[in-house]
Amino acid sequence: MSQPNAPQGPSDSRSDAAPDVTRRSLAAQALGRIEPETRAVVMPLHVSTTFIRDPDHGYSSGYCYARPDNATVREAEAVLAMLEGAAAGALLFGSGMAAATAVFGALEPGDHVVAGTVMYWALKRWLREEAPRRGFTLTFVETDDLDALRAAIKPGRTKLVWIETPGNPLWTVTDIAAAAEIAHRAGARLAVDSTAASPVHTRPLELGADIVMHSATKILNGHSDVVAGVLAGAQADTFWERIRSIRAGSGGILGPFEAYLLMRSLRTLHLRAAAQSAGALRLAERLSGHPHVTRVLYPGLPDDPGHAVARRQMRDGFGFMLSIRVAGAEAGAIATAARVRLWKRATSLGGVESLIEHRASVEGPGSPCPTDLLRLSTGIEDTDDLYGDLDQALRAAHAVA
Ligand SMILES: *Cc1c(COP(=O)(O)O)cnc(C)c1O
Repeated sequence: MSQPNAPQGPSDSRSDAAPDVTRRSLAAQALGRIEPETRAVVMPLHVSTTFIRDPDHGYSSGYCYARPDNATVREAEAVLAMLEGAAAGALLFGSGMAAATAVFGALEPGDHVVAGTVMYWALKRWLREEAPRRGFTLTFVETDDLDALRAAIKPGRTKLVWIETPGNPLWTVTDIAAAAEIAHRAGARLAVDSTAASPVHTRPLELGADIVMHSATKILNGHSDVVAGVLAGAQADTFWERIRSIRAGSGGILGPFEAYLLMRSLRTLHLRAAAQSAGALRLAERLSGHPHVTRVLYPGLPDDPGHAVARRQMRDGFGFMLSIRVAGAEAGAIATAARVRLWKRATSLGGVESLIEHRASVEGPGSPCPTDLLRLSTGIEDTDDLYGDLDQALRAAHAVA
């Protein structure tokens, strides 16, 4: 067994809002808010698209129309901002892609962006397609190599460094604090796609990042029934306000029903993240010794290249995502995925049900994903059941190869 990663400081699990109560406790109670009229412990779902205007034309409630803002969305945003320690608050969007693209939308023509080679594939494709049309330039670099990251920065022109850690689907780990220092020294902002880490394991803003992004479709919601995305900001500067204005103008806000479901899920986030990351570590350890597995990619393994940095910037586990490279090349991987019974053969990640995916065939040409790789999203099922199912699939695939 590898060592549990150490907490970063005495107050790491505490909330800034209520110094004596942990984030876990605050999340379990959705910040403990009580609905004033009925004293309900669950806040009502606000579906109204419009709000009464005061006789003097003002909006004393602060609400005017539901595209810029919604009370249920704000409730979920408050929980997310608390989880990330986000002084500027959080903004929910209709998907992770809507959240991520709003950040790039806030750039000015001529700005230069440095982004990771290993990152969510659909976002990389979007960047490649949209950067020339929107007038910003891009450099992709292996952001876990800090010298390469430093060299990719164009002083005065680089305005945004975008990293994903652990990075999908190889789970490479980028040093957030070091990347923040490199970005800031050049006058750029650092944004972190922290979907695979969740706020339970990593809080990028505390490590110096300016913006953290999650596909809330994944472990934040965790039940494979909501598509959502979130940004959390370290400071309410002009860039952040521009992002807020982009969301209001483009109509990218999450719907209230989805926000309600997400908030319900956030109450159990710590339990799910703990169970899922413990399961992922156990699977990674057992699969490391499997005769038909050539490599396990998981930052929680002591011999993983990202382990040392992960131990510093992740706490209470290393996340629910791992990948395996299997014997028998692409055919071996596809044959294994074809033979699972308990694991579900599907895309996405972070849900309570475990998913397996042959990622290279999803990403297509130009992807850094090896063709013998299977991406595993660990759910909350019994780990022995999950291992047993993978083991039988690997053996059955090998027998026919
Ligand atoms: C799924 C995912 C996204 C995109 O989020 P959607 O909610 O699907 O739009 C972005 N980054 C990572 C790491 C993801 O896993």
